[in-house]
This record gives sequence, structure tokens and C-alpha cells, in this order.
Amino acid sequence: MYHVVTQSNEARNEGPDAEVGQSPPPDGDPDAKGSRKERVLHTRVPAVLERELKRFAENLRIPVSNLVRTILEDALEVADAATENVEEGLKRAAGHLERERERLKKRMEHDPLEGVVAFQEVTLATAATCARCARELKAGTRAHLGIGDGRDGPRVFVCGDCLPRG
Ligand SMILES: [Zn+2]
Repeated sequence: MYHVVTQSNEARNEGPDAEVGQSPPPDGDPDAKGSRKERVLHTRVPAVLERELKRFAENLRIPVSNLVRTILEDALEVADAATENVEEGLKRAAGHLERERERLKKRMEHDPLEGVVAFQEVTLATAATCARCARELKAGTRAHLGIGDGRDGPRVFVCGDCLPRG
């Protein structure tokens, strides 16, 4: 996260703690603007829950972060938004993981890659979005183009993490 400090004439003598100046991102990274407005949430989970999440994610062959995101979205749909904050919603949903496993699994298996029969590694010429995790894939990076089974379907790319593994 960048701290962008706008200097004005009044900001000259704010003491040693004042942040001065702004350095551009080292590689001209355009992420700071125009990218999806997403936030990284940090939360503590019990070790047993972490193991459960990892095992579940491995079963589904998806990144843990995808699973957590789905659980969270699911929780927010169910939650009474007025009385429950995000973290509570996540913990509650995760606590019910065993019971809700099948429902979540079905939800995760609403597969954006349905109809894709093969993947070809490509170098993107224009920015794209991973069809599974919605990660932004920048022009010039490697991605995997889903090749359909002949039916008309949307063109899909996935990132390396979301490539199905056999
Ligand atoms: Zn992805």
C-alpha cells in the first residue's frame, strides 16, 4: 500500500515523522490505478480450521484463497449484514464448513471453464482476467488460453495457479 503525500507550502515543518515525497512504483506498475478495487483481508483462523480449509481446497484443486473468497461471498449473502461483520461471517461460515461442504462444492464447481477441453500457454497481448480467480493478467505475462470444444463460448484465460492439475 502506497502512502501518497501531497506536499503543500504548509507542510514544510511537520517534524521527523512527516512523510516526504513520493517515489513512483519501481517498475512502473500500473496497479495503483485502474485495477480492480480489491482489498486483502488478514484474519486469524485456528490451526485446525486452516488445515480443513487447505484440505478442502486441495480436494477441489483450487487455491485456498479462492475457497476463502467463495466462503466469504457465501457468508455475506447469507449473513444479516446489519448485525454481522465480515470476519464473523467468515468464521461462522468456515465453522459450518463440514455441513456446508456439498453446497460450497457445488458453488465452486459452477465452472467458468466448462466446455474448455485444453489449455495452451500464451503470452497475453492485452490485459485479461483469470476466469477462475479474477486476478488481473497483464499484457506481456503468461496465461493459459482455454480451448473450447467447438461450441461458441466466451474466450477464457486462467492464471498459472488456476490451471487444473491432473
Ligand atoms: Zn487464477
